[in-house]
Amino acid sequence: MLDTYIIIKENENADSVNINAYLSPHPLDEDSHLDDEVFKCIPGFDDRSIDEDGIHPFFRDNNIEIYKRIENLTENMFRSAIKNIWPLLNNYIITRISIAIDYSGMLFDSNSLAAYNYVNSRPEHGYYRFDLTRSFLIRQLHKLEAGEDLSLKFNTTWEHELVHLLDHWNSVKSSLFRDSSKPEECYKYFLLQYRTEGIAELYYLLKGGRDDVKKMSDALLRFKDKVEKIKREIFSESSVSEELKETISKDYDFYEIGPWVILNYLKSHEGGFHADFIDSIINRIEKSEVIEQNEILETIKIALRIKSEEFLLEYI
Ligand SMILES: [Zn+2]
Repeated sequence: MLDTYIIIKENENADSVNINAYLSPHPLDEDSHLDDEVFKCIPGFDDRSIDEDGIHPFFRDNNIEIYKRIENLTENMFRSAIKNIWPLLNNYIITRISIAIDYSGMLFDSNSLAAYNYVNSRPEHGYYRFDLTRSFLIRQLHKLEAGEDLSLKFNTTWEHELVHLLDHWNSVKSSLFRDSSKPEECYKYFLLQYRTEGIAELYYLLKGGRDDVKKMSDALLRFKDKVEKIKREIFSESSVSEELKETISKDYDFYEIGPWVILNYLKSHEGGFHADFIDSIINRIEKSEVIEQNEILETIKIALRIKSEEFLLEYI
């Protein structure tokens, strides 16, 4: 008997990547059990009562058009992000990318904008899952209606999540530390958050995204303070509760300080081979100068080679 082989080919370019964004749960799905309240904030949604035309708002043609528009909008924005970082992705086997759009706000934490769902992704099959939150969607629809652009943060969100895809196995590793209640293990998880989120957020920082921190020296001081505080809080307990993990996650600036910590780390990474290049990047960030796209991708490429174990050794 012949074995059956599945032939999986690399994509030729960003346009050939199979992306499927879908409303989750879909309003046309009988089991969705949705209240029409969830559509109140969606611009253009026809929420007249069923008595007006005998049709439930979910099934009106004009609303079905809105569902399709939201799905297309999400796919297009995601594809632009893929194009922006294509040199990092072009050797990857990607058979399908699914994006669950949580327009009802029932699935995800509203504090985040989007997520790479590593739990439901299967890199061995080239299948990747992402989630889009209600807050991101609503902001996007309102900006579109007003004819305004989204801020850089929103405009680099998918690139951030795609870098998580490239860093898949490190996310899996650090999540194992997160699940533990032992202080030593949890401490490793939080340190690794500076690595994981720091690498993903490099794109935003290098594109000119600066919030409070504008200098390396300030970032490193803040990092030192935060790490000491995490240590104090975690090691004061013999078992770390979920509540404490939540509190720490919200207050430790992984996103803002992380990319600076990564750049600092890269100066001595791989025997200091990249020191001059990274110094020049840091200098230009501090002066708010433009960093070229190829330099941004090169920096992320080097950063993705930082092993979790090496990073932990530096700070434990
Ligand atoms: Zn992230």
